[in-house]
Amino acid sequence: MVRVHTVAPGSLGAELGLVPGTELRAVNGRPLEDFLDWEFLAADERFVLSAKLPTGQEIEYDVERPEGLPMGVTLEPPRIRRCGNHCDFCFVDGNPQGLRAPLYIRDDDYRLSFRYGNFATLTNLKPWDVERIVEYRLSPLYVSVHATDPTIRRWLLRNPEAPEIVPQLRMLAEQGIAFHTQVVLVPGINDRAELGRTLTDLYRLGDPILSVSVVPVALTEFSKRRLVRELTGEECRAALAAVGQFATRALADRGVPWCYGADDLYLQAGIGLPAAAWYGDFEQRENGVGSVRYLQMRIAEARDRLPDLAGKRIGVATGTAMGPLMPQVLKDIAAATGGRFELVVVENTLFGPSVTTAGLLPGAAIEAALRERRDLDFALVPAEAVNDDSVFVDDVGAGELADRLPMPVCLSYDFADVLAGGQADWRTGGQSMPAAGHSRSARPAVRLSARGGQG
Ligand code: SF4
Repeated sequence: MVRVHTVAPGSLGAELGLVPGTELRAVNGRPLEDFLDWEFLAADERFVLSAKLPTGQEIEYDVERPEGLPMGVTLEPPRIRRCGNHCDFCFVDGNPQGLRAPLYIRDDDYRLSFRYGNFATLTNLKPWDVERIVEYRLSPLYVSVHATDPTIRRWLLRNPEAPEIVPQLRMLAEQGIAFHTQVVLVPGINDRAELGRTLTDLYRLGDPILSVSVVPVALTEFSKRRLVRELTGEECRAALAAVGQFATRALADRGVPWCYGADDLYLQAGIGLPAAAWYGDFEQRENGVGSVRYLQMRIAEARDRLPDLAGKRIGVATGTAMGPLMPQVLKDIAAATGGRFELVVVENTLFGPSVTTAGLLPGAAIEAALRERRDLDFALVPAEAVNDDSVFVDDVGAGELADRLPMPVCLSYDFADVLAGGQADWRTGGQSMPAAGHSRSARPAVRLSARGGQG
């Protein structure tokens, strides 16, 4: 059973009499377990919907709808499938005390993998899940492989029951499912020769493996650190050499690099990033792969729509990971607008300085970094740091933050969304803080744990 959360006025759902709280029980007699059932089973032009209204009335609708006309119904959030692994580097376990309850949820949910691009390990798949993945063609899925050697993977996941990943991927691939994969690199465990083996095994699976990213393990001040440490610069360079070998081979065989290093890996290795064209459609951008080049590309694309900002000083808040990379982005945007863009690198006061991603910056740290900057005409704050309710990880609301700062501020994913997107409240000196529209990035708070947790 799934429950209706909202019904758009004037929509087909409203016409049927669906209201928030209505239980949607079955479509054509098939019980609805979650949003996937609803979306796939109710996709036809004609179907019978069994529902129970909040009044207790049970009702059957014979639904007929013109092709493409949405029902206008959103559902209550699904119950997240919990993770059964216990990775030593799990970011969720490394959260400090006192955060919102959802931030302690370790999700490992193939449904969120399909819908939002969250990485899942597939270690908790039941036969019924496999049938659904195949029936609904949930493709591509984002899968944390880490290592194809079953012993090493089980060690990394701290899960002796984890099934072998290669047969699992092969079986799904044979049924038409494709994958974006990642390897979170842990020194001494799945790097060097083991990374070579993993990349070889994935490459041999052929076209269904659309990409693989190699991401350096990230630990917080609160991580267990019993078994895992961070990579050295030399280890990052060795990993990039392996990435380069496979990318060269894939370019020759498949026309795409296929194997990508995360921006962090290049940064820690002290090696310059590849050009934007290297990243193709930036499929793993939200995994920190190609983020810098993506920003530069967005600025270049929006160049004709960017305003004249000559004489303006604009603060750009970001995490320490992007600190060394951002100047090349700001140079582009300054050249395009004439504005003076000043980088404000914010250290993560909640998780500790080793957490460098902008997506996990607490509102309080951004406030501390900007509150004395009366010299700024306005400031841009990373939109990925707030959830769908515009709340930072430390429960500070975006509006609250804006009220406490001396300059107008805007949430921004990529500069162009605010500067060229007509959402710039800074023009009027207003202090409201709209979330910039950006479909793929507008993900729920669970996304924060997915990236940070590297699950
Ligand atoms: S890192 Fe991911 S797979 Fe590992 S325990 Fe945490 S949520 Fe689970």
